[in-house]
Amino acid sequence: MGSITLQSVSKVFGEAKVIPSIDLDIQDGEFVVFVGPSGCGKSTLLRLIAGLEDVSGGKIVIDGKDATEKAPSERGLAMVFQSYALYPHMSVRNNIAFPLKMAGMDKTEIDRKVSDAARVLNLTDYLERKPRQLSGGQRQRVAIGRAIVRQPSAFLFDEPLSNLDAALRVNMRIEISELHQQLKTTMVYVTHDQVEAMTMADKIVVLNRGNIEQVGSPLELYKSPRNLFVAGFIGSPK
Ligand code: ADP
Ligand code: MG
Repeated sequence: MGSITLQSVSKVFGEAKVIPSIDLDIQDGEFVVFVGPSGCGKSTLLRLIAGLEDVSGGKIVIDGKDATEKAPSERGLAMVFQSYALYPHMSVRNNIAFPLKMAGMDKTEIDRKVSDAARVLNLTDYLERKPRQLSGGQRQRVAIGRAIVRQPSAFLFDEPLSNLDAALRVNMRIEISELHQQLKTTMVYVTHDQVEAMTMADKIVVLNRGNIEQVGSPLELYKSPRNLFVAGFIGSPK
């Protein structure tokens, strides 16, 4: 569970070849970070994996099965967005429970899953609050909680911390890393922030204009950047 393979995946918007052709292997349990400057195609690539955009060419294999034509809900993935996308009129409990109610799960099972997620995310004392009564970091945790209860084979994060202030970003970075260690579920994490990439990733994918410049561990990229773009972006001399 949790492996994702991209085979010659491409995406064209009108005249613009946003992703020319990408091959990538993501292993089960890996924390993979897509990093690159604004507009390089990070979100597009994540949305292709999620099925929120159709590929223009190539193949997406999830857990060994061709998922290229599958609807987002059939891919077994959970996406956490930058804007929290919480329902303002619902309590934290109901926000987290929402996907399970939609799936028709029975109430006892829902309550158990919500309690488990709340414990993992330190939200137990906040379950009856409304989103507006929470801090930015707590709201982000609720959004993650809503993903966790679905027990996805992989989490997809698109710049989940970019709306938070600097101090909170550092905290949440640590929390998400700890969550990964606890759940051991594949995480694909998009950011334009080199520090986030270097501190969180098992494997970094450096993107530039829709192409992969280099794939490697933070240490590999730091010690042996393949070119000036990677060196400049990761911040080591070459
Ligand atoms: P990033 O997330 O790295 O900032 P995006 O994946 O959002 O980059 O965008 C990559 C490129 O694709 C940008 O030039 C953007 O304008 C373009 N793009 C993204 N989505 C669409 C769309 N729905 N229609 C047309 N162009 C798009
Ligand atoms: Mg983006």
